[in-house]
Amino acid sequence: MGAKVSLRGCADYNPAGIKRVVQSAVEALGGIGAFVKTGETVLLKPNMLAPASPEKAVTTHPSVIRAVAELVLEAGGKPFIGDSPAVPGFKHLCKATGIAGVAEKLGIPVVELAKSAEYKQGDKKLFRILEISEMAMEADRIINLPKLKTHSQMFLTLGVKNIFGCVVGARKAQWHFKAGMDRMFFARMLVGLYHAVSPDLTILDGVIGMEGDGPGTSGVPRNCGVVAASSDAVALDRVILEILGATPEQMYTIQAARETGVGETDLSKIEISGEPLEFFRVENFAFPPKIGKVPFGPPMVRRFILNHLTAKPKEARDKCTLCNKCVNICPTEVISVKNERLKFDYDKCIRCYCCVEVCPEGAMRPTEPMLLRITG
Ligand code: SF4
Ligand code: SF4
Repeated sequence: MGAKVSLRGCADYNPAGIKRVVQSAVEALGGIGAFVKTGETVLLKPNMLAPASPEKAVTTHPSVIRAVAELVLEAGGKPFIGDSPAVPGFKHLCKATGIAGVAEKLGIPVVELAKSAEYKQGDKKLFRILEISEMAMEADRIINLPKLKTHSQMFLTLGVKNIFGCVVGARKAQWHFKAGMDRMFFARMLVGLYHAVSPDLTILDGVIGMEGDGPGTSGVPRNCGVVAASSDAVALDRVILEILGATPEQMYTIQAARETGVGETDLSKIEISGEPLEFFRVENFAFPPKIGKVPFGPPMVRRFILNHLTAKPKEARDKCTLCNKCVNICPTEVISVKNERLKFDYDKCIRCYCCVEVCPEGAMRPTEPMLLRITG
């Protein structure tokens, strides 16, 4: 047995209860002292996607972040909270998500990961050069704090995908652009990035997860009742897939990890600590809708497939406030506002669903065309 994943049941975010659960999950891996030594700087990397209240399940719950920060402080470490969200307005985001309150209470910094530098890795199967936040790479330790959520483009966002927050600003948009065209390419980059950043510990907040049209406010909070911890985020993701009733073939990052040999993807080789897997099963979890593949080929064929076999982003007019967030984030600039309505150039849309991710009103969703529903 190589990888170990500890699973703990947890019904709510009561701060004292969640602290006991997180502590117990980490104890099973050797305790916080196995990951943090006195005086070390520790980046706590939550999912800070958008300025949504904790109840919306868009971001890692502040009680989980607080519990981990307290453990790090008790071990003599110097924690700081950091991420590079896709949307502007970091201060507002920190306040809305309750993360600023945690930082203030514990007297620890919360920072927007800003400056990046090139990092090279030798393994030929992985991305050789990646641009990553300097602050993340310079931290003595990294504790990855993902949220259990669906993801329109990548199926789910769990431990490996959460490290994408260590890619800064404009670089992120470029990757999203490539991701729209080739999801396996994006998954390989994510796995390469995870390998380069190499978080020491991953603790997943799956107490209230998200199903449906995640990862933004279009998704629906779902009580999953689990906290998971591991030093191997690939193994952790593999275990969560099992709990939700999905297969490794459905998840691009697990396929990419298998290809490159990063982390443990074989369930039979993962040691589970805690109750057996069956205890945590989430029945009828709603995965994101089929989105199809963006095709290559002659323009006419490409247009036909795009229109009939891929999901188009579309706003619900009764919810849309014309805030322009989707317009500003779109990497191909194909959304505009005309006569107080959004207008899309679907022929040029690469189906990256960044617009779905950032919509604060849950108004934007991928909509499956009839043909995709029948044939997909
Ligand atoms: S419209 Fe949405 S899905 Fe299409 S390219 Fe722009 S952000 Fe991506
Ligand atoms: S769809 Fe959402 S992000 Fe786009 S303008 Fe409307 S409210 Fe804003």
